[in-house]
Amino acid sequence: MRIITHTCPVCDTVVAANELEDNRVMKCPGLRCQEVLRFEELSENAREHFLEYRERYQI
Ligand SMILES: [Zn+2]
Repeated sequence: MRIITHTCPVCDTVVAANELEDNRVMKCPGLRCQEVLRFEELSENAREHFLEYRERYQI
């Protein structure tokens, strides 16, 4: 299964797409990083893939 992640542009912390999808908007989990990450920031291709197969990403 394809792993979809989003990388924080500020600190390079990697966040799983399913975490982002749950929250839609979340503060970067990186230490001392205040960046806000949004599901919409994933590439369109990644979002489509994730939504199509979202059941498989529920762990
Ligand atoms: Zn960050």
